[in-house]
Amino acid sequence: MAWLSEGALEALDLVTPVFCAGCGRLGSCLCPRCEAPLYEPPRLIETTAGELPVWAAASYEDETRRLILSWKRGRVDLAERILAAYRELADRWHAFDGDPVQVVVPAPSRWKRRASGLFVVGKAASAVGQSLGVDCADVLRERGHGHSGGRGALGRSRAAGAIRARTVALPRRALLVDDVVTTGVTLEHSAVALSEIGVEVRAAVVLAATPRRTKV
Ligand SMILES: [Zn+2]
Repeated sequence: MAWLSEGALEALDLVTPVFCAGCGRLGSCLCPRCEAPLYEPPRLIETTAGELPVWAAASYEDETRRLILSWKRGRVDLAERILAAYRELADRWHAFDGDPVQVVVPAPSRWKRRASGLFVVGKAASAVGQSLGVDCADVLRERGHGHSGGRGALGRSRAAGAIRARTVALPRRALLVDDVVTTGVTLEHSAVALSEIGVEVRAAVVLAATPRRTKV
């Protein structure tokens, strides 16, 4: 593009405008103000996932919610920016927690999401694995039409057994990765499923947590 004058580039920008996925401001796929919360220091989150420590960077609301939804719906220009935030989150978690893990496992996604190539949590887990210098193993699956979410006891009982881990030989200590944590049910059942194949989940890291769940 070196042959285009600055004026011509500006004109091109007007022809193919790029809007921030969070606030809609013109100029880039993710403006600095909307990107900043993804780089907050990881916080320990209050969940139903019992003893499992769950760490999150951002609060899942407003611009952060919009940009994560946009990424999950397949906005490709956003992907690399979000994966960079996951790499930073992994580094910071490691610095905080210091508990070495041997493998990174993405939380399960519905088969429709996988089939349509939108398994974004798999890409996030892969980025986290790169950052920590360990492998990523996509072994968790949702069983049948099992319901993995929902609040309260009903949601949890529906979720029981809804996630299984493929029986493969994995290192013993794992880190779970997901996009958003609400109740922690999916992470809890993922950890149970992994324990059934002899893998101990040391912690989970997610990009964002629904508000008012900070533990520390
Ligand atoms: Zn923005």
